Amino acid sequence: MDNALRLQYLEAMGIDLWVPRAAPAPDRDEQLLIDNAAPEAAALAPTDHEPAQPGPDNWESLQAEVAACRKCALCETRTQTVFGTGNKQADWMVIGEAPGQSEDLQGQPFVGKAGQLLTEMLRALGLAREDVFIANILKCRPPGNRDPKPDEIDACHAYLQRQRALVQPRIILAVGRIAAQALLKTEAPLARLRGKVHTLDETPVVVVYHPAYLLRSLPDKRKAWMDLQLAMKTYTEG
Ligand code: URA
Ligand code: SF4
Repeated sequence: MDNALRLQYLEAMGIDLWVPRAAPAPDRDEQLLIDNAAPEAAALAPTDHEPAQPGPDNWESLQAEVAACRKCALCETRTQTVFGTGNKQADWMVIGEAPGQSEDLQGQPFVGKAGQLLTEMLRALGLAREDVFIANILKCRPPGNRDPKPDEIDACHAYLQRQRALVQPRIILAVGRIAAQALLKTEAPLARLRGKVHTLDETPVVVVYHPAYLLRSLPDKRKAWMDLQLAMKTYTEG
């Protein structure tokens, strides 16, 4: 989408722009890396003659397993799974809750209205969507966008673990209460989770407000900006 159109679109949705004063993020060489991980994975794939051995994980098998997954009841109501997208060697991994209606229809995470705001939040950090890897706790949409159930989070957990292990991010942004609680295995409220740096297998985790929440609660956007600054500080100093 061209920039003027994008701005018009965001304005029409009532979304204030995130630090539009900063120069737009430069086109990044990293974008070239997005699909360059494939040759290695292909080299590791078993041939017809060798039975598949339990070996190093790879994106192809993980993606195929998710696409065919029937480990929880959400497989009955989804249009399709939403695996995740972006730079598979990203420094930043962004983890949301679950696909909503737009995501379920398009097969991509954060493409609806909240997704537009998340994209702006990333731009505020100087990051393009393509620079980061974006995934959700759940790969399938809960009907009517209800909260994920604990058994669904448990069933889906291993996929996210494997994504984390493959990406090996330098920082994780946990987007919203549900993602933060599931990731950090806590029931603490968001107010206590944001504003500090957590760790998950030695990777720093910063909790930010969910953009869907920010769309309803504009006064909290200032705090949201503080969360993003904490994330950038953690990344730069880490
Ligand atoms: N909200 C999320 O948490 N994830 C999405 O992919 C879309 C909306
Ligand atoms: Fe499988 Fe996760 Fe979808 Fe449940 S939500 S069916 S565990 S991919």
